[in-house]
Amino acid sequence: MSSGSLTTKNTYPMHIGMASYLPDSYLKMAAQDLHERVEEKRKSYGKDLVVLGHYYQRHDVIRHSDFQGDSLDLSAKAAASNAKHIVFCGVHFMAESAEILSRTDQTVYLPNLFAGCPMADMGDSFDVEHAWKEITSICHEKIIPITYMNSTAALKAFCGKHDGSVCTSSNAAPLFKFYYENIARKIFFFPDEHLGRNTALQMGLTEKELIVWDPTLELGGNTKEQIDQARMILWKGYCHVHTFFTPVHIKALKEKYPDALVVVHPECTRQVVEMADACGSTSFIKRFVEEAPVNSTIIVGTEINHAINLDIWNEDKKVIGLARSFCPNMYKINLQNLCWTLDHLETPDVHRITVPDSIKSNANKALQRMLEVKGKN
Ligand code: SF4
Repeated sequence: MSSGSLTTKNTYPMHIGMASYLPDSYLKMAAQDLHERVEEKRKSYGKDLVVLGHYYQRHDVIRHSDFQGDSLDLSAKAAASNAKHIVFCGVHFMAESAEILSRTDQTVYLPNLFAGCPMADMGDSFDVEHAWKEITSICHEKIIPITYMNSTAALKAFCGKHDGSVCTSSNAAPLFKFYYENIARKIFFFPDEHLGRNTALQMGLTEKELIVWDPTLELGGNTKEQIDQARMILWKGYCHVHTFFTPVHIKALKEKYPDALVVVHPECTRQVVEMADACGSTSFIKRFVEEAPVNSTIIVGTEINHAINLDIWNEDKKVIGLARSFCPNMYKINLQNLCWTLDHLETPDVHRITVPDSIKSNANKALQRMLEVKGKN
């Protein structure tokens, strides 16, 4: 079970998250009927409902969303809306973040409770607490914990409790800069090693100033001196969708499309980022494609459904996925479970995401600190 599941109260029986729980009437319904039923439901709820579509959702799902975007952007838009019901077509940590930022009169739903995130689960809160105790007992100076948005509510709460913050792939650099310049010369970053490394190197830190913390090894695989001297301690976590890309993929596509531009996500490995023309968040990649010259070819190193959607949304350009690397968890949201969720919004607790108050208040602190720093930049 994911640590995300442990931190929130998902009151429906476990088997409910699997595709098979859906009644035959949903599984056998023709696609066109499902599309029509989803649209009818959205119309009948009007402004009381917002459907959020993360960029990595397949086209059949994202076409029914009121807002499309990355997780923070979507959560902020839902919280600012008048909607009572927020249906998040994304993964568990995203729905948790939407719940933390939502008002008390709003309810957040995830169409499939089994849509988790392996990278978020790599930052197990027990392991992080243990590492924090070891690191702080060794270091002679202040250290700030910062977690990537792609983490459980428990880790966000950990950061909130220890004067730290959350960051996204869009704002990691200004956020790190703010903390280095104003609060501490040392950051403990989790759970994505690659986002941390790519951001730190882009900011001018050197490889020597970074160490990796492997939770399966004593002292994370480091000496006391290394821990004391490091400017950034990177948790050994990764997104399998983005680390799937290799320099071989870039070389092969560049041979076929020599004039193509290559843009990749910072969750990719350093070697891949170094070979790309540009690197940035999902929103950055979307803008990069939109602003590329008409008739250009753009090779996109991120989740394959984002590449497919960008190709559909930009008819005057050719967008190609660097490889067919897709997120099976994002893919657990489909037209059938979206339709089923919309049909059962009034059923108590169905597919509802809740975060316990004890976690919520500290997690909210960490999120608010990020928003404050974002506002200053
Ligand atoms: S793409 Fe990667 S980080 Fe995003 S939800 Fe899937 S596994 Fe998690």
